[in-house]
Amino acid sequence: MLGAGISGHTAALHLRRLLGKGHEVVVVSPNSKWNWIPSNIWVGVGKMTTDQVTFPLAPIYKRKGITFHQALATALYPEGSPDMESPHVSVTFTDPSRLNETANIAYDYLINATGPKLNFAATPGLGPDGYTASVCTAPHATEAAAQLATVISKMKAGQRQRLVIGVGHGTCTCEGAAFEYTFNVEHEVRDAGVRDMADITYLTNEYELGDFGVGGMTFTQKGLETTSKLWTESLFRERGVNAVLGAHVEKIEPGVINYEQLDGSKNQLEYDFAMLLPPFRGADLQAFNAVGDDVSAEVFAPSGFMKVDANYAAKPFEQWRAEDWPSTYESSRFPNVFGVGIAFAPPHQISMPRTSPNGTVITPAPPRTGMPSGVMGKTAALTIFDRIKMGSSATDHKASMSSMGAACVASAGTGLRRGSAAAMTMYPVVPDYQRFGRTGRSAKDTFGEIGLAGHWIKYMLHVAFIYKAKARPLWYLIPE
Ligand SMILES: Cc1cc2nc3c(=O)[nH]c(=O)nc-3n(C[C@H](O)[C@H](O)[C@H](O)COP(=O)(O)OP(=O)(O)OC[C@H]3O[C@@H](n4cnc5c(N)ncnc54)[C@H](O)[C@@H]3O)c2cc1C
Repeated sequence: MLGAGISGHTAALHLRRLLGKGHEVVVVSPNSKWNWIPSNIWVGVGKMTTDQVTFPLAPIYKRKGITFHQALATALYPEGSPDMESPHVSVTFTDPSRLNETANIAYDYLINATGPKLNFAATPGLGPDGYTASVCTAPHATEAAAQLATVISKMKAGQRQRLVIGVGHGTCTCEGAAFEYTFNVEHEVRDAGVRDMADITYLTNEYELGDFGVGGMTFTQKGLETTSKLWTESLFRERGVNAVLGAHVEKIEPGVINYEQLDGSKNQLEYDFAMLLPPFRGADLQAFNAVGDDVSAEVFAPSGFMKVDANYAAKPFEQWRAEDWPSTYESSRFPNVFGVGIAFAPPHQISMPRTSPNGTVITPAPPRTGMPSGVMGKTAALTIFDRIKMGSSATDHKASMSSMGAACVASAGTGLRRGSAAAMTMYPVVPDYQRFGRTGRSAKDTFGEIGLAGHWIKYMLHVAFIYKAKARPLWYLIPE
């Protein structure tokens, strides 16, 4: 298993549960801790600490009998190499006791669950090493909370402050997380009694509000059809948050964000506090064949994500079909290698692709959120288990994002009495227009609601998923 995030950790725990002691489950991951990333939003507003959203992996793996290497995978040798006959992966240790040592680890089956590489480098000045905050990791979120506290104290001292939250590149994904952080910050500023001193702007690559990288959603509420656009716009109006849509951030300078919009115009936004998510790429692993040729371009898409059993043929947006999406996650090049969670290369965007007159792509990339990522990890684990038990003729388990639902609870402010969240479910994640007609999704299973109950659900998910990830008794009964 490469990666101990939502998909990799899920797959490792299921394989360990299913396989007898005669089989070894090995996890390679560079961080010593597991992180419930969705709750980083609350760390980013100072309402949770790093310790509440992370825990050390080594004791869990020791208890479960999983071998753990704190290391970064660098290259795959699925046909072996002159150094080692069996399929293996090269790793560089990040474990302080073996820092920078390298090793080859043999495998029979490999799951690449390396998630996103946070590609701050795509936009000059973006990210904690530049001029903006991030909430992608717990340490980033802690730093964001400190910066937010500083602007709140300036507001309390009578200085008006400009807060910009959103995404830092035209091809970013995870707009839902940026949306959540926007409304948590708005809630914090209101709680601090200085809402009238804050100009809050949501800066996004989405063409319209409520797109969330899934082309928006159509809901039926009280018998009437409504959309995530209408619903989201009303929240922005109600909370007095401005939105800049269809934006590709080109460069960040201290206090100034330079961006291009879909109409081709180049604009600037001044800020005192900015949290902008980076675009994602794959982990930049390399792959080699038996004779040592670099076959990375065959195994990975240009984005660095792993090509799996999807249809990657280029075609116009209208011709993309639900069945173009992968369902087994087996590598298109090497059997016994799987790419799950954010690590697999999506065949196409879900939101309609758009380009500015200058040729700049400004379209959200498809989100692979927690629930689908966990399901994909479990699916690959079940296939591997069956192949070990029944041989390579075992039928593969399947879970396509075009036949999988997702629930997303976007926090809009924390607090057991005064919190709120926008709870959305959609089925399927990737619209299937052949099956569901005009909206591409089941009207019965796609809905959204905002309120205090959503906050409780979000908090319960935090508790339940950390319980599950710690592999406490009956953890496997909690669905992905
Ligand atoms: C701020 C934020 C908030 C979010 N909120 C939500 C939410 O509310 N609901 C939701 O459903 N989703 C949410 N998401 C998305 C969710 O976090 C992802 O869908 C999920 O983490 C993807 O799982 P994954 O296993 O693919 O990747 P990850 O969970 O990121 O795990 C990747 C793992 O691979 C490891 N790794 C990286 N490179 C290597 C390498 N070379 N070798 C070995 N290991 C490597 C990493 O250290 C990590 O352990 C949010 C994301 C962000 C950034």
